[in-house]
Amino acid sequence: MARQFFVGGNFKMNGTIDSIKEIVNNLNKATCDSNTEVVIAPPALYLLLTREHLRKGIEVAAQNVFDKPNGAFTGEISVAQLKDSNITWTVLGHSERRVILQESNSFVANKTKAALDGGIGVILCCGETLEQREADKTMDVVLAQLKAVADVQKDWSKIVVAYEPVWAIGTGKVATNEQAQEVHKGIREWLGKELGQEAKDKTRIIYGGSVSEKNCKDLAKQEDIDGFLVGGASLKPAFVDIINAKA
Ligand code: PEP
Repeated sequence: MARQFFVGGNFKMNGTIDSIKEIVNNLNKATCDSNTEVVIAPPALYLLLTREHLRKGIEVAAQNVFDKPNGAFTGEISVAQLKDSNITWTVLGHSERRVILQESNSFVANKTKAALDGGIGVILCCGETLEQREADKTMDVVLAQLKAVADVQKDWSKIVVAYEPVWAIGTGKVATNEQAQEVHKGIREWLGKELGQEAKDKTRIIYGGSVSEKNCKDLAKQEDIDGFLVGGASLKPAFVDIINAKA
């Protein structure tokens, strides 16, 4: 079952008006594999600027969204506001939010449902810490994170699962091809059992954690790796090589 390769760029809390314009201009000029779906996630303040300057065919994602429609929620952004701004995706459940901002599995699940109900696609992050991996808890942790979403949301056609081992994020320590493939395969099997054959066959499962222009081609050859969520390298010109990992 062919799944369209998907590459997301997560800028995190990086960039300025000038540097983001430069990244966008580079992407506008770049030759990107037309078979790859590309989405970039700048900080909230620069979403509109990015959407305005970025060429059609590349989508823009928020790095977070709130689960309530509007009201007294200082500092938050609603799904409707993303829609209104032509922002079609959001990242949710990134480990930096789960760990630093203490977002629970159920909060991430509620936000995922709110985004999907409002027509926004979700890059749903999951992943284990080093301690959890060493305690042989990787699949328990990852599947608990995903199960919370499956409990409230049965249609996963607009969800891209990003498996991001916490120990590999921003550390330069990439999971081996085998480690990543093993977890992706486990997630895919779970999708089949939990949500059915279609979810198993069609859900994109992308890998994140120190992906670079050097390691992306081998990772992309793994059967269950359908793309990447890229942090640090998405700020550099080499992001285009990662987009073209399958070309
Ligand atoms: C991320 O933030 O989602 C990420 C994978 O970061 P990096 O590529 O820098 O490890």
